[in-house]
Amino acid sequence: ARGSGRFFIGGNWKCNGTIDSVTQLVKDLNAGSVPSTVEIVVSPTFVHLDMVKRTLRAPFQVAAQDCWVSKGGAFTGEVSAEMLHDFGIPWVILGHSERRSLCREDDELVGMKCEYALSQGLKVIACIGETLEQRESGHMWDVIDAQLQAIANHTTIGNWTNMVVAYEPVWAIGTGVVATPEQAQEVHAHVRAWVAKNVNPQVADTLRILYGGSVNDQNCETLANLEDVDGFLVGGASLKGPSFIKICNSEH
Ligand code: PGA
Repeated sequence: ARGSGRFFIGGNWKCNGTIDSVTQLVKDLNAGSVPSTVEIVVSPTFVHLDMVKRTLRAPFQVAAQDCWVSKGGAFTGEVSAEMLHDFGIPWVILGHSERRSLCREDDELVGMKCEYALSQGLKVIACIGETLEQRESGHMWDVIDAQLQAIANHTTIGNWTNMVVAYEPVWAIGTGVVATPEQAQEVHAHVRAWVAKNVNPQVADTLRILYGGSVNDQNCETLANLEDVDGFLVGGASLKGPSFIKICNSEH
């Protein structure tokens, strides 16, 4: 890990959970032992968010999985950044590939969402990543640079201390096909260099760049100790308390 902030583990619960399963997961997390050097943020659905926030003990924090692009109002079905802030929710995930593909969120919208969430005092887990087709057709760097550029266009240098970037290759999400250490390190180093050149070198030095996509309690250690991997965003394995606790202990 090179980003000088604390190692960061995000748990993205996606659209999963019942009152019972979420209660059990919170219990398992609260019973787990995690290093104080790691920042840990789990992300339940909107309906479970407040309940989890109230029952999960420190050092665990919570994140929303998305929020609206501007001030709340006549936007049926949406939840605004100021509502999250009002509930004491510190973090929000923005630009997850499932929202980009299934809900057609484009780079510009994701950049605007980052801008508005940051303006309301939220911290942002900004997600980027290429599809297999983009990687294999040689467009990977263009895609990643455009995703980063849209975020950079909508944020100030000062905003970057309240953001982490999650590199999540779409072909690795939920597939069991994890990026190789070489693939992850290559893209993470590229992201850091891009930020150094296009945002600011100090921002690049401190930025935490997370890897996401089929991280589990077996493959996490190798990835955690790569030079430019500063944490993970974990989907499936974050729904199992013991696995997630192991992942929280992966950096040595
Ligand atoms: P996965 O999901 O760990 O289940 O691959 C990661 C993510 O989508 O954040």
